[in-house]
Amino acid sequence: MSKSTAEIRQTFLDFFQSKGHQIVASSSLVPNNDPTLLFTNAGMNQFKDVFLGQDKRDYSRATTSQRCVRAGGKHNDLENVGYTARHHTFFEMLGNFSFGDYFKREAISFAWELLTSDQWFNLPKERLWVTIYETDDEAWDIWEKEIGVPAERIIRIGDNKGSAYASDNFWQMGDTGPCGPCSEIFYDHGDHIWGGPPGSAEEDGDRYIEIWNIVFMQFNRQADGAMLPLPKPSVDTGMGLERISAVLQHVNSNYDIDLFQKLITSVAQVTGIQDLTNKSLRVIADHIRSCAFLIADGVVPSNENRGYVLRRIIRRAVRHGNMLGAQQSFFYKLVQPLIEVMGSAGEELRKQQQHVESVLKAEEEQFAKTLERGLALLDEELAALKGDTLQGEIVFRLYDTFGFPADLTADVCRERDLKIDEAGFEAAMEAQRQRARQASGFSADYNAQIRVEKEAEFNGYDQLAFSAKVSEIFVE
Ligand code: ATP
Ligand code: MG
Ligand code: MG
Ligand code: MG
Repeated sequence: MSKSTAEIRQTFLDFFQSKGHQIVASSSLVPNNDPTLLFTNAGMNQFKDVFLGQDKRDYSRATTSQRCVRAGGKHNDLENVGYTARHHTFFEMLGNFSFGDYFKREAISFAWELLTSDQWFNLPKERLWVTIYETDDEAWDIWEKEIGVPAERIIRIGDNKGSAYASDNFWQMGDTGPCGPCSEIFYDHGDHIWGGPPGSAEEDGDRYIEIWNIVFMQFNRQADGAMLPLPKPSVDTGMGLERISAVLQHVNSNYDIDLFQKLITSVAQVTGIQDLTNKSLRVIADHIRSCAFLIADGVVPSNENRGYVLRRIIRRAVRHGNMLGAQQSFFYKLVQPLIEVMGSAGEELRKQQQHVESVLKAEEEQFAKTLERGLALLDEELAALKGDTLQGEIVFRLYDTFGFPADLTADVCRERDLKIDEAGFEAAMEAQRQRARQASGFSADYNAQIRVEKEAEFNGYDQLAFSAKVSEIFVE
């Protein structure tokens, strides 16, 4: 019997406690007093000031299971959800931290011991691949000479400025703040699955999956790009709980682990669908986690900033429910099953259950009206349409004035063998952005809060609203 996700979370914490680490509770998804960050996106966030030497704790080693959301800002995985086996908007990051205590050697050997020792996770060593920062010979020597990983499974990688998929061995929390070279551990799920090793052209497949990132925190990046050394070299690591659970439960996709399978079954029940493999079920199962925990942590749907990102995720989930044929409000009904599958990580949510359900229900009912009205308006436009392409201006007006998402317009059109003028929509959208920028008096030295939030708004979600990728994203 393989371990449950709850047991894996606990085993991780127990292991690091046995190595002298203090177990610290997860912090909120809404960063405390950090205007550079949209949502908590990594375990190290709550320790940022400790790394910077501005805050002291009475421990120098800590371990956590941190709830994270990556849907906007520097790390944005919203578009990946439902399309890769390994990305969620909400996930738990298991981490161990050294605040000026141990450094590379211990960090690497702790990780290796937990993963491969038969007392712990007992993974076959030959399935593990390692990446290091291109110039980090010290890390190379530790992996090759001390740990004994064969040279052909150690890969040097630089900082990648390109694809969101591609490996990147210089980790940064955001545009500013603690950062450093890192070393990552990948698991080979086997040659029956498509994909290539990190750094290869096929690395975005689901065969070789990054499970653990070990960051050697050494610098504090400034807004002008300067890298100031941290007071003491430190360690920050992050391992996705859902990814290591997939490995330990012998499944290839995070969505096939115990926790997600139960949640997906609940989604199927509340939407009344039989086919458990439908991709929309995975999207909804993912989205209920980010939405419910964001609300429990104090975010409410709105038209700006964090609330706006939340609103768009809820609407995306509701639209997927609509595509599945859900006849009535369903999304809020998933809070109870979610609490059940989250175990000890669901405590905060349990306390806020009624509030979370009522916020979700209200938002869902309001959007149902928008959906209905938007669909009716779209019908009228389509009845009057000459040719086979709906003008971008109309798509934009439905979106901007009536809150009817462009991706939904695209879906409806596709069903009727019609196209959408994507370029026209993009142009109208860009004009709107210009107006918004002027209206907000947004300038280069405006404070970071606004900068981050505008970025999340414009780059984070609006890219999704409609982009060249719309057909890849929303067809099926
Ligand atoms: P990827 O390259 O797969 O997008 P990443 O390099 O962006 O991952 P890190 O910032 O290094 O991820 O985060 C540390 C760990 O957190 C990863 O090794 C992975 O196990 C997990 N993780 C990161 N993003 C997600 C996500 N969206 N969903 C689930 N787990 C994630
Ligand atoms: Mg990523
Ligand atoms: Mg990566
Ligand atoms: Mg990584």
